[in-house]
Amino acid sequence: EPYIPKYVEVNYIEGSNDKKWSKRDFPWTKELEDNNKKVFGNHSFRPNQREVINATMSGHDVFVLMPTGGGKSLTYQLPAFISPGITLVISPLVSLIQDQIMHLLQANIPAAYLSANMEWPEQQGILRDLCSEHCIYKLLYVTPEKVAKSDFLLRQLENLHARELLDRIVIDEAHCVSQWGHDFRPDYQGLGILKQKFPKIPVLALTATATASVKEDVVQALGLVDCIIFRQSFNRPNLRFSVIPKTKKCLEDIDKFIRGTHFDQCGIIYCLSRMDCEKVAEKLKEYGHKAAFYHASMDPELRASVQKQWSKDEINVICATVAFGMGINKPDVRFVIHHSLPKSIEGYHQECGRAGRDGQIASCVLYYSYSDYIRVKYMLSYGAAEQTPFTYGQPRTSSTNSGRLETNSENLLRMVSYCENDIDCRRFLQLVHFGEKFDCSNCKKTCDNCSNTRTLVDKDVTMIAKQLVELVKSCKQQFSSSHILDVFRGSMSQIVKRNKHNLLSLHGAGKHIAKGEASRVLRHLVVEEILVEDVKKSDLYGSTSSVLKVNEQKAFTLLAGRQTITLRFPSTAKASKTYTSDATPAKGPLTSSKKTPVQVYTPASAQP
Ligand code: ADP
Ligand code: MG
Ligand code: ZN
Repeated sequence: EPYIPKYVEVNYIEGSNDKKWSKRDFPWTKELEDNNKKVFGNHSFRPNQREVINATMSGHDVFVLMPTGGGKSLTYQLPAFISPGITLVISPLVSLIQDQIMHLLQANIPAAYLSANMEWPEQQGILRDLCSEHCIYKLLYVTPEKVAKSDFLLRQLENLHARELLDRIVIDEAHCVSQWGHDFRPDYQGLGILKQKFPKIPVLALTATATASVKEDVVQALGLVDCIIFRQSFNRPNLRFSVIPKTKKCLEDIDKFIRGTHFDQCGIIYCLSRMDCEKVAEKLKEYGHKAAFYHASMDPELRASVQKQWSKDEINVICATVAFGMGINKPDVRFVIHHSLPKSIEGYHQECGRAGRDGQIASCVLYYSYSDYIRVKYMLSYGAAEQTPFTYGQPRTSSTNSGRLETNSENLLRMVSYCENDIDCRRFLQLVHFGEKFDCSNCKKTCDNCSNTRTLVDKDVTMIAKQLVELVKSCKQQFSSSHILDVFRGSMSQIVKRNKHNLLSLHGAGKHIAKGEASRVLRHLVVEEILVEDVKKSDLYGSTSSVLKVNEQKAFTLLAGRQTITLRFPSTAKASKTYTSDATPAKGPLTSSKKTPVQVYTPASAQP
């Protein structure tokens, strides 16, 4: 029987601002600092590493939100090294685990892993080592299905626990627990059993991507108690962000871009399908780049060899599906190109996060067309084999329940709105999604929108804002932001009719307002906390969806006419541009002069 966590109110304790955790007089401080240098070869700690380590070593459940490349591994590997027993690490992919084990063994830290695709005698050998009197391993990595399906493993863990040798349980890539996240893996939901069986053992959950709802899901599913949460800015100042309209000449554009700014440098091109990967790689080879493709249905040996050649710089450009890259630790990736629309902002942020891990400048360029949106939407609805994680487990498409689909399409719509926005800072748009307020002046013209020189004018959108707030208020139940926008713009869709929203007085009040404009106003209201995006538990399993409600206190000033809201729009009449099809580049300010990615290596002020 699956273990169903019961819903409990979650108490988070903010650890990030608590000075207690950065103190240097814990009993383990000296050992920590010595071994960080000696064993791991680091001169110092990165932001939050010391704090997280102190909190988990003090025995608390800890939730860590740290950007990709921030150094999450150290926060459990170092404690594991200086603790007497063993640390259990759950990690989603065998390839990821192997990479970690290799690094650990190089540093002389005894570590092992168990996975379903290992020979049974080998697994038995490791399990036997675990029972031996002095457990030789410091870290044991397992894939999540091992926990769910192997009673044998659970018995060994109980045995270790009884001998007080189970120090800590680590859940890496913890967002995989959440249906609401971009990388849901069903086996992660069974991990709640660990806290149930070992309630006193501290759990450390780590992720680079968690919106409020994902965070809630993770804490619920894992059964974390009074967990201390550490988070930090997800902004990556050394990345340059641009969105470029995708035309039929996209591959030529990509060639020119790489040749112009990153020739012979290392990069990843994310493609939607296996076919696309192969086509794009082929074309780039013709253009004279050292390119190769990488996807799930390749022969595993060939795949491994491509990855190896890439890490040795024999191949520069990898054309891959999103299957490529999780846990890939190549520091000098100079560009990440999206040949088609990513499925969510979280996914996009994480994929871009693989660029510039060495802290040097790197480019993230997204080629966007509306017709790709339709393609992705179709794939999400009807299941697409290329999206299946290949290293283990069930195909993700097995969960075609409607809640999942809604989540997917909501995530995708946000991505579309990101691409269609040619006004707001890209960093701001991404970070808002992670619940972080970003001051756009800190972008310093390192995204396409901030470096755009066309003139913008302030426009009073108070009326639209008021109407949107009134509309959210007048719905009896809570609805998602895309539903509210549909009603506002007068949609007559089934769902609008079913809820009788076509009868509301504000139905269609925003008919004449461009969708992009309305959605910007709505997002602004959320940022200003006049509207609140609320997480709603929709079923027994505690799975969640995101809905809007009114923050009465803040809305009062607006509705009483004592607040005006202005947003900036291009001085040309229309506020939002339209990307129509692959063939014709979009009209409007964005393409009136040919748009190229934000240049790197030149100071922004030197740009035309
Ligand atoms: P994450 O899991 O957060 O994406 P990793 O744990 O894989 O990041 O670490 C990314 C890189 O940063 C690794 O190459 C790691 O060796 C390096 N790193 C981590 N902590 C430190 C530190 N304190 N000083 C220097 N390098 C570090
Ligand atoms: Mg990691
Ligand atoms: Zn910007």
